[in-house]
Amino acid sequence: MAVAVVAPSSRDAHFESAVRQLRVGVQAMAAWVRQTEGEALGEGLIQIREAGIDPLEAVFATGVRRFDKSGEYKADGALSLTAWLRWKCKLSGGAAMERVEVARQLEKLPQTEAAFAKGDVGYQHVAVLAHAAEHVGAAAVRKEEGKLLQTAQTMDPGQFTTVAKNFEHRVDAAGALAEANRAYERRYFHISEPKDGVVRLDGVLDAEGGATLRTALQPFMKPVKDDARNYGQRSVDALMELCRQGSGSRRDGAGPRPQLIIRAGLDTLAGIKGAPAGELEGGGTVPAETVQRYACDSAVSRITGQAELEHELNHASRTLPASTRRALEARDRHCVFPGCTRPLSWCDGHHLVWWTRGGATALPNLAMLCRPHHRMVHEEGWSLARARDEWRAEPPGKIAIRRLTRRE
Ligand SMILES: [Zn+2]
Ligand SMILES: [Zn+2]
Repeated sequence: MAVAVVAPSSRDAHFESAVRQLRVGVQAMAAWVRQTEGEALGEGLIQIREAGIDPLEAVFATGVRRFDKSGEYKADGALSLTAWLRWKCKLSGGAAMERVEVARQLEKLPQTEAAFAKGDVGYQHVAVLAHAAEHVGAAAVRKEEGKLLQTAQTMDPGQFTTVAKNFEHRVDAAGALAEANRAYERRYFHISEPKDGVVRLDGVLDAEGGATLRTALQPFMKPVKDDARNYGQRSVDALMELCRQGSGSRRDGAGPRPQLIIRAGLDTLAGIKGAPAGELEGGGTVPAETVQRYACDSAVSRITGQAELEHELNHASRTLPASTRRALEARDRHCVFPGCTRPLSWCDGHHLVWWTRGGATALPNLAMLCRPHHRMVHEEGWSLARARDEWRAEPPGKIAIRRLTRRE
């Protein structure tokens, strides 16, 4: 990296030798890492940061500061030092901006600069302190610099950020409030129109909003046994669960509000070939299998359509009567899919002989299934059957039969 900073004309023997030694040091460490394992390797990784990367970042910061003052980056045609770092040092915009902030603040924080050069604190700790200095002024940070550095050495940068934010609030409550208000102003959440069956979400939350969401999702995030879902998929499922439960829990006795309104014809509900897809209110379509799944436990949905269909729905006691639901919950206790223990609050009532195929809404024809397993049965073609107190699930095409005794 140093090679890029210095123009060829200013290269001298000292510089050439420093670069050569740096490369020799890196190669020696690389060779050692290749042939080391276990505990020694862990110690090596620590030394790579403490003796290598962090002190080098400190040197880099000193260089960046001097380069900043000289304005030499303009000679390359860059409009700012940040732009130059992005271009020449291959940093992202955020990383370049942070390096410039660290370089500028470090000059005013001598104890931090020394601890950084010695490898006592890591680059990210220093970035947190530089950020605090940017907010409340370096003079305020200097007054408590020693104490802050000591704390930094006992915690990771994430925890240290909380300490630094508390410090900022202590010395400049008005500034901290202004920052929180700026973050709040930036809040937004956007749900895209469905495209190729996919809806994109993006957004920004302030710290409070983020913590609220995280806390609300947390109970639904836990992986279950043999959970094949990745973290992102579990997060989405948790969000959906939150939405379902949130909109279903009205305490005024008026019953659940519809969480999803699907318009579908009788042909679609009955699964007749060539029938149109279900139309979602608010845009987008879902396949007939999804319409059928929602029809399976109408406590969570309302399906509207043509007059004859509504007539049909009104005359079928499809919604689980409260007493049936209670009996079903007492019998099943959790999702009945072999191996699954997701709680009843995650579950829909499923009709073994589908309601859309004439199955009765009566205990012997019902089962509690969590949403992911209910989906597997309707949309992915798994079949579920009960034989002698034992639930059996079979994958589509019956390639393999999975037989497991239900655990209570
Ligand atoms: Zn079902
Ligand atoms: Zn399940």
